[in-house]
Amino acid sequence: MSEQGFSTRAIHAGYEPDPQTGAVNVPIYASSTFAQDGVGGMRGGFEYARTGNPTRRPLEANLAAIEGGTFGRAFSSGMAATDCLLRSVLRPGDHLVIPNDAYGGTFRLIDKVFTQWGIEHTPAPMGDVAAVRAAIRPNTRLVWVETPTNPLLNIGDIEALSAMAHESGARIVVDNTFASPYLQQPLSLGADVVLHSTTKYLGGHSDVVGGALVTNDEELDTAFAFLQNGAGAVPGPFDAYLTMRGIKTLALRMERHSDNAEKVVDLLTGHPAVERVIYPGLASHPGHAVAARQMRRFGGMVSVRLKGGKQAALDFCSRTRIFTLAESLGGVESLIEHPGAMTHASTAGSELEVPEDLVRLSVGIEDAADLLADIEQALG
Ligand SMILES: *Cc1c(COP(=O)(O)O)cnc(C)c1O
Repeated sequence: MSEQGFSTRAIHAGYEPDPQTGAVNVPIYASSTFAQDGVGGMRGGFEYARTGNPTRRPLEANLAAIEGGTFGRAFSSGMAATDCLLRSVLRPGDHLVIPNDAYGGTFRLIDKVFTQWGIEHTPAPMGDVAAVRAAIRPNTRLVWVETPTNPLLNIGDIEALSAMAHESGARIVVDNTFASPYLQQPLSLGADVVLHSTTKYLGGHSDVVGGALVTNDEELDTAFAFLQNGAGAVPGPFDAYLTMRGIKTLALRMERHSDNAEKVVDLLTGHPAVERVIYPGLASHPGHAVAARQMRRFGGMVSVRLKGGKQAALDFCSRTRIFTLAESLGGVESLIEHPGAMTHASTAGSELEVPEDLVRLSVGIEDAADLLADIEQALG
């Protein structure tokens, strides 16, 4: 049978209606432990819920299916997935290359924690394969890619970066949070691991925090499973259920996020208050050609630099009424934030510092006309 389409997998993969009750949706198995028939006699493959839970397991199978991978692991947050990946792949004395505009929390964990354990990192612009290659050292074990990046929406060429990393004997992980698996499939382009903050587009409703790792590499998955159980940063069954519920509508939502973002970009482009609009769908974006090749559409994230510097950016953030001033992204509702003072405050003074006139929009799936009117009034 040929591989099923994206939405068919998103809605069905990992779960068949329950044979006993016919329940169409995965039940929330609120059970921390599972009865055994004699010592070691597991009935359904479960013994203790840190190791595995019958609500989490279908989510993990579903995550693998929608990324076109073999193995999926779910975590209690995107950062827990990041921590598991770093500790599975790196040892003291190893080096990794990270994006020079990495997600603030990723940078903080690597810079403040992993450095203490003798792991070195070099920031590099992922849009420039030669610059990433120049950052590789003999002890480089991992290339960390985000594309599009947060919040500057830079684009890395996954296929070229994967080939380059593999030639250097390093593994490559792609944080696919901003694109979502509907828009971009890093494993098919050569990545070894895909990482998600499922808190964002996969959950999609700003009601759950979670993370995921997906790979085709059994050895890596075994290492992930060991730490997932050994360190225990697992999602509870209700969180797993909410994430699965969100994934079912991912394709529909991403189409609408992309439609609305394109309209917001049209409005902002040429607006007198705007210095520059950053969106990979714009032909003027330096990564546009690569994005057009590796992404189905360009997604719901739009960044904008305002004339008038930091104060203009802060004013814009505080004047919108439908765009809620909040961290995070990827939910049905539109959000606005000032990365320099909010999500990326921890990068201040580092090479990863973001411009202070920058505002990040997570364009939701409300009616476009209302979003446009809100932006118009807030820009004044
Ligand atoms: C939010 C985010 C993370 C961290 O995920 P949490 O679920 O908040 O722990 C990692 N990478 C990117 C790109 C993110 O946006």
